[in-house]
Amino acid sequence: EVMDRIGAAELPTHVSVKLTHLGLDLDRDLTVRNLVRLAARAAEHRHTFWVDMEYSRYVDATLDVFEAARRERENLALCLQAYLHRTPEDLERIAGAGAAVRLVKGAYAEPASVAIPSKAEVDERFEELSLRLIELYDGRGQPHGLATHDVPLLRRVASEAARRGWGKDRWEVQMLYGIQRSAQNQLAAEGYTVRVLISYGEAWFPWYMRRLAERPANVGFVLRSMMGG
Ligand SMILES: Cc1cc2nc3c(=O)[nH]c(=O)nc-3n(C[C@H](O)[C@H](O)[C@H](O)COP(=O)(O)OP(=O)(O)OC[C@H]3O[C@@H](n4cnc5c(N)ncnc54)[C@H](O)[C@@H]3O)c2cc1C
Repeated sequence: EVMDRIGAAELPTHVSVKLTHLGLDLDRDLTVRNLVRLAARAAEHRHTFWVDMEYSRYVDATLDVFEAARRERENLALCLQAYLHRTPEDLERIAGAGAAVRLVKGAYAEPASVAIPSKAEVDERFEELSLRLIELYDGRGQPHGLATHDVPLLRRVASEAARRGWGKDRWEVQMLYGIQRSAQNQLAAEGYTVRVLISYGEAWFPWYMRRLAERPANVGFVLRSMMGG
């Protein structure tokens, strides 16, 4: 329904889901079928259909379902988390096969055996992987997404990509609705594509509050905007 409404309004809006919401804990083949069905509907509107990444215990199953579904529907794209030790190889596997990747730092509490514990090292890894993604982009279809509110990091990636002669059309910035709004506007004014993530459905409010609570300073900002201050 949401994709049909987006299509009817001719919005350049994409939908993104977690595979556990499509049955990943229950049945692998059912999840593939559900994902193919949703991607087919997105394709009718020439939209990309994004798959989120969850806890590390789901990564193997997510990649498996994603690849199986993508053999049937090319308009599928996948989130990968820079903090996981395994991600450089996963990135070669997924982006190397021509799929768009949304790179994030990673949102879940994970042990040091699977994820880099140091924030500085995650940032460094994010920068390296961003450049690798921009390099791998083959000029066809959805560009890769760099999903972070870390503007200095995005600036470093942008200037290195420009130095290497890689165009702004090879990647896009993705941020949460309401976070770093002035940077979103500034980047868009400079010709970068900026995509904003907003939750949809009955549970949008608790979801949005959880994201905001990741930075308590935001809560005051949102309350002020809601009160028109
Ligand atoms: C579009 C999108 C999709 C995502 N999808 C996934 C996913 O599928 N799987 C997954 O594991 N994670 C996902 N994430 C979350 C991601 O992994 C990070 O946890 C989250 O983006 C916060 O890290 P950061 O990259 O912004 O950098 P940080 O280093 O945490 O922050 C950098 C700077 O950005 C600002 N900032 C960061 N977060 C906020 C905030 N909430 N409010 C205000 N300022 C903030 C602060 O100024 C901070 O200093 C997604 C994020 C986005 C934007």
